[in-house]
Amino acid sequence: PPHSEPPFLTDVNDAQKKAVLHTDGPLLIIAGAGSGKTRVLTYRIANLLYQKKAWPNQILALTFTNKAAREMQERIVDLIGEKANRIWMGTFHSIFSRILRFEAEHLGYTRDFSIYDTVDTDRVIKSILQELGFNTREVKPQAVRFIISNAKNQLISPEAFKNKFVQSSLDDIAAQVYERYIARCRQNNAMDFDDLLIKPIELFEHHPEILQKYQNHFRYILIDEYQDTNHAQYRATQLLAAGHQNICVVGDDSQSIYSFRGADISNILNFKEDYPDSAQIPLEQNYRSTKSILQCADSVIRQNTSRLDKTLWTQNDRGEIITVLENYDERDEANRIVRSIEDLKMREHLSFRDFAVLYRTNYQSRVLEDAFRRRGVPYQLVGGISFYQRKEIKDVTAYLRLLVNPHDDESLLRVINEPARGVGEKTITNLQQIARKHNKSLWDTIGDVESTGIYKPAIGRIRDFVDILERTGKKLTDTGLTDTVRFLLDETGYVKQFVEEHSHDSLMRRQNVMELLNAISYFEKSSNTPSLSAFLQEISLVTDLDAHDTDDPAVTLMTVHGSKGLEFPVVFITGLEEDLFPIGGRSGEDVDIEEERRLFYVAITRAEKRLYFSYAKNRFRFGEQVDMNRSRFLDEVDPSVVRTETGATIRQTGSPGMAGRSGKSGTYISYDQSNYDGNAGAGSDFHSESYDSAAPADDGGGMGVEYDQNTGEIIWRSGMAVIHKKFGPGKIVQCQGQGDDARLTVFFKNVGQKKLVARLAQLKVI
Ligand code: ATP
Ligand code: MG
Repeated sequence: PPHSEPPFLTDVNDAQKKAVLHTDGPLLIIAGAGSGKTRVLTYRIANLLYQKKAWPNQILALTFTNKAAREMQERIVDLIGEKANRIWMGTFHSIFSRILRFEAEHLGYTRDFSIYDTVDTDRVIKSILQELGFNTREVKPQAVRFIISNAKNQLISPEAFKNKFVQSSLDDIAAQVYERYIARCRQNNAMDFDDLLIKPIELFEHHPEILQKYQNHFRYILIDEYQDTNHAQYRATQLLAAGHQNICVVGDDSQSIYSFRGADISNILNFKEDYPDSAQIPLEQNYRSTKSILQCADSVIRQNTSRLDKTLWTQNDRGEIITVLENYDERDEANRIVRSIEDLKMREHLSFRDFAVLYRTNYQSRVLEDAFRRRGVPYQLVGGISFYQRKEIKDVTAYLRLLVNPHDDESLLRVINEPARGVGEKTITNLQQIARKHNKSLWDTIGDVESTGIYKPAIGRIRDFVDILERTGKKLTDTGLTDTVRFLLDETGYVKQFVEEHSHDSLMRRQNVMELLNAISYFEKSSNTPSLSAFLQEISLVTDLDAHDTDDPAVTLMTVHGSKGLEFPVVFITGLEEDLFPIGGRSGEDVDIEEERRLFYVAITRAEKRLYFSYAKNRFRFGEQVDMNRSRFLDEVDPSVVRTETGATIRQTGSPGMAGRSGKSGTYISYDQSNYDGNAGAGSDFHSESYDSAAPADDGGGMGVEYDQNTGEIIWRSGMAVIHKKFGPGKIVQCQGQGDDARLTVFFKNVGQKKLVARLAQLKVI
């Protein structure tokens, strides 16, 4: 019986309402950003339950991230009550693994099958490669995994792959591994991530009665972000929906940004063919952004030739004009952004959680994280691992630690077979036993590896490892830090492995390592005592403070990819430079400029009230400072909605006692002074200025902090009360230099005097 309209339908517009109340039959919604697509799905589900069209567990809702699923579920609970928790809601992977657990037996698995992550997968592929007689130092398991995974997601069988898709010698090897890999997984009762998408299709195609059961069960199917589904996801949902045909998909072709992972925009177009009598409802009113932001987004996406025609307008205010921040380099960019956030937060009474800083590539988070930490502004890195916690960064720093202290067994264990050089676990266990027996470090033990009597072939490999480290150690005393690390990366083949693997993931890893090289290079140029140990101390200080309370309001740092579907009052889009955003085509890959532009469109449309673009004129890349050109995208933006704020000459304002040093294309300030240990040292050479007599600098007004007009850095003065994460409260008793680079002597109540570099110590003014 027809029910009355649900009470929660008051805050939807007419088009949205039509979409919400359109319960039966296929429905396609292609609409621009912020037009309420996700809201329509949410309300649709609430309405289905309200109208008693289905039980909660008869509704299947697929989202792109688990976070999106949680949010939608919470919203529906708000609208309709606790029963909403029984909806099948989640990502494709989570939902399908649930189905697979139920039906595992039909696929020759048991219910408690394991799920292999990429590390497990690589291990299996490696052993198969070895069985087939390949040298896994030459043929990288990861590279083979990448090819197999692609084939799986396109539903290409091992046989078809062998016959039709082999184009290189690596493909040929992958073809040999593929079938065995599948057999091995089955034998191990394990599924990899791809299987979670593929196996349901296999299940449904081979067991019509099971397919029918699920077809009957899921009365309503809803999919958000449909433009980013891949072929397997498309196929599986097509099968499931074939029964009731109550499938509603929402998406925006202009926001398709995962084609590198096999997402297929034609799924949207296919929808109309699969369901010829499907309804299509356009949503044209945007509720998220100001007129300026929408105008900006529109002017950009217009440049793409392949896109579906859509209208998007808003009743929101015109709002603030978009600001382009031009910066000297990436450090200035980061400092300026943090500074602007602090300013805006105060002026507009915002919370830190109202801000998002977006970047194109993960490694860009390093400089941003440093800036946030230095100024004590809380941030949360979303959907990524903090830079210094990433595996490849930990690997390389383990090498560096070994150079400083070869007896650091833990670091040695981390890298002795990294990259893989054929030193097996058994050999390592043997070495550990020998070391223990003789009460020696592992380094001392392998220094005389020939006399250890371990597995013969491993001896030569370990000898090579020792040689590399010894040569690198020598290099360190002869040449600079950056050159040494570069040498190390070359000699060990650490970077080469990523180049060879040539997958998206490996390119990211390589970029991260290069970014570490940048950090080292910058450190070397800007530090007075650019020793390796000082650098390691600096980064360990940063990582020490890694854990912060994520419940606290914090600024969101994330990649543009990660920001899809989200919204924030204030958004900063960083690194708008050619070769970065749009990303470069250096390593010979083709750049899909239209996809880069869609990414830019996604980034712009996350903003509600204020939008900032920023770029740097110089950037450390591959250990060198290089000139950067502003992104072509900035020139595509309608000029009537942007203005540029230059931050030129930032570092040229010196003060007495500072000596300028010319860099490649700018001026760096360095302090010409004596040996100063870059960190909280013992401070025995402290020359006294008493704690009590120090003049108070806190003027009592506002925050009591002064900022340098040009750099946005805090001006430190003796007498300031500060707090240090480890040492607690204290007072500055002496201060040399300026801003972040100031060297401070601080008397801490609990631990006495310490000498600190402002930039590293992350003092907060209290
Ligand atoms: P995206 O393409 O970025 O995923 P979307 O189309 O899914 O965007 P939503 O996130 O659903 O858009 O909605 C954007 C914002 O507008 C949200 O804050 C939502 O609550 C709000 N909104 C949507 N429709 C209305 C409405 N009719 N009245 C008031 N606010 C609305
Ligand atoms: Mg959405």
